[in-house]
Amino acid sequence: YLPNPNDSNATILLMGLRRGGKSSICKVVFHDMQPLDTLYLESTSKPTSEQFSSLIDLSLMEIPGQLNYFEPEYDSARIFQSVGALVYVIDSQDEYLNALTNLSMIIEFAYKVNPKIHIEVLIHKIDGLTEDYRIDAQRDIMQRTGDELLDLGLEGVQVSFYLTSIFDQSIYEAFSKIVQKLIPELPSLENMLDNLVQHLSIDKVFLFDVNSKLYVATDSSPVDIQTYEVCAEFIDITIDLDELYVDENGEQTNKEIKSISRLSNHSLLYLRQMIRGLALVALIRNDDENLNDMDSMLTVVNYNVNLFKQALMQMWQNSKFVKKTNDVNESL
Ligand code: GDP
Repeated sequence: YLPNPNDSNATILLMGLRRGGKSSICKVVFHDMQPLDTLYLESTSKPTSEQFSSLIDLSLMEIPGQLNYFEPEYDSARIFQSVGALVYVIDSQDEYLNALTNLSMIIEFAYKVNPKIHIEVLIHKIDGLTEDYRIDAQRDIMQRTGDELLDLGLEGVQVSFYLTSIFDQSIYEAFSKIVQKLIPELPSLENMLDNLVQHLSIDKVFLFDVNSKLYVATDSSPVDIQTYEVCAEFIDITIDLDELYVDENGEQTNKEIKSISRLSNHSLLYLRQMIRGLALVALIRNDDENLNDMDSMLTVVNYNVNLFKQALMQMWQNSKFVKKTNDVNESL
């Protein structure tokens, strides 16, 4: 289960005390499990790993809380060296002081072997807390973590905090941001999406990983969680419908998936399949009642999205090429 050191940026390590919610997060985000079904999840005692391929190949490793990773039989140094992000899950509904001590110990170790590691803390299960209590818990956890790091002489270490729950979109939003930090092409992708928004009457555009519904990039306007939800649901609807289409031999057609839907406020939801399990989903303004105008507008959108797809393909080929060259250089 050791990550491949050649993919150094691509592994996400999920850690935290037992019953914090790690397995539930994996099952809900990567396996479409219904949040309530996680109540009956068995506690895992072995490290597990999920593969997740988007523009880069990512893997997510879950380390069960009861394993002590500082025992000599685990090559912890090697694990942390080859990891892009450490995601630490804290159960906000439980007494969390032990978790914070554990967290700073792990940060100290991780940072020593890999100063480039991204440290991400999920203040999890916030669905059970009132709005006021959420803010208090966040402030308290950030303060205490800061104090512990100061004591360890690690005040320069950047730690990001997210309030999450598997019962709403917050876990997807947090993981989307965590994954985005590991994609070297992110600035170019964002530029390309901003370009689309500027040239077409798009309100919001996401580049989604279809399986997990994480967005690997979006334009620079702020993410409104309802828009995110509508776009993510549109992927499911489109895929369900697509599975209904079979050719005359009963085989599924291998055509590019594409779908457009008109909302009651006349806006359009637009989906196009891209490469490597990605889909572009945009919310397009359409004040015109006139269907002919809509057709010509869609022609322009299609044309621009084609260009985007070609650029994405080029980007993917280049990154494969760069990786290959690096591998060759390393083996020399
Ligand atoms: P792990 O030991 O860290 O892998 O924790 P589990 O995934 O087994 O979760 C422990 C319990 O927490 C399960 O009963 C889950 O249903 C519950 N749980 C996980 N995430 C959430 C959440 O966001 N909110 C609430 N209320 N419960 C959660």
